[in-house]
Amino acid sequence: MKVLIINSGSSSIKYQLMLMPTAQVICQGIVERIGSQEAVFVYKTDNDEITKIMPVMNHKEGLEKIAKLLVDPKIGVIKNAGEIDAVGHRVVHGGNSFSKPTIINQTVKDKIKELAALAPLHNPHNLEGIVLAEKFFKNAKQIVVFDTSFHHTIPTKASKYAIPNKFFDEHGIQVYGFHGISHKYVSEKAIAYLHKKESKIISIHLGNGCSMTAVHNGKSVDHSLGFTPSNGLIMGTRSGDVDHAIIFYLVDTLGYKLDEVKTLLTRESGMMGLTGYGDLRDIQEEAEKGDKNCLLALEMNAYRIKKYIGAYAAAMNGLDAVLFTAGIGENSNKLRDLVCTNMEFLGLELDAELNDLRNPEIREINTPTSPVKILVVPTNEELEIAKEAYKILTFSLKEH
Ligand code: AMP
Repeated sequence: MKVLIINSGSSSIKYQLMLMPTAQVICQGIVERIGSQEAVFVYKTDNDEITKIMPVMNHKEGLEKIAKLLVDPKIGVIKNAGEIDAVGHRVVHGGNSFSKPTIINQTVKDKIKELAALAPLHNPHNLEGIVLAEKFFKNAKQIVVFDTSFHHTIPTKASKYAIPNKFFDEHGIQVYGFHGISHKYVSEKAIAYLHKKESKIISIHLGNGCSMTAVHNGKSVDHSLGFTPSNGLIMGTRSGDVDHAIIFYLVDTLGYKLDEVKTLLTRESGMMGLTGYGDLRDIQEEAEKGDKNCLLALEMNAYRIKKYIGAYAAAMNGLDAVLFTAGIGENSNKLRDLVCTNMEFLGLELDAELNDLRNPEIREINTPTSPVKILVVPTNEELEIAKEAYKILTFSLKEH
């Protein structure tokens, strides 16, 4: 079964064509910086690797280019679009409606659209990817996998906000949790690595968006993002935790409009707001050159993560492992070092040499005597989506 995975973000589309159930990758790539004259288009197969800088002004153009390359007579990997059996999509917000992956129909699309109000940076692009894929790959089943589904096991004591009950009961205002596809994939990897089904793990996903999940016996029991993907850790352009009274102050005293506050907190804050840089690599480079704002931003970032580690260890009454994943978590030895230093009281002992090594596999970066394992676990959201899409399709074929 050929499954195409589409992970349609705010300015990028990651894609992978996989043969299931073997999970053999037939081709993969990314279109980055969508919306610019200098978008980066990457296409990799076993035989070819192409990186092109070209104008890609919107997601439709990006997906058109991907679909065209897949069937290209010279470097394509399929003869026609009809060869694709299923397209698996990542959707960020599934609210209370979706605790499992699901096959797309109009009701599902309407619900994803409705939930766009809660994930304005993500759901509209996810939906656009679905609508375009339906057009390009007419014979394929379209399947959606939600970032929120993994967190349906969070108990009410952790998912409910202390505001009047009617907002929880009638309006669904609660913690939903995000990055669930990644947290599920990496925590399952860690559990298999540790040979420990009964385990207390803290999964730390640090990419453009950042979040932490307390995973007790394989289930999400608490999570740092909340009703929307805004709460918790300091992110690329999102502030994470702030005193909500700041919003009233900005509006009532400083004269900001609500839309401006939204933009400020979601697109102009976080590491960008603190340093002027959105990419952690730039921030690390400037910090090394002595830029005080960059240095402080790194320290603030790590400090926030430390606090959540403490909170989640307390919530689970213990800790077997913390794991780092995603672009920053997998690559920034600097940030891992800042997070894990002076955490011996909790059983975390980082091995500096292991931390500095680069290795694309799951690996330990703790000392041999560290009571708590510190792991780097490369995430693979595309593989997780492909596995779920395969599962749901084979199940639905058996049913008919
Ligand atoms: P993701 O959302 O998982 O694709 O992660 C994207 C982020 O990973 C970017 O903002 C970069 O700051 C960060 N990143 C990627 N490579 C590195 C690296 N070698 N060192 C530090 N950060 C990195």
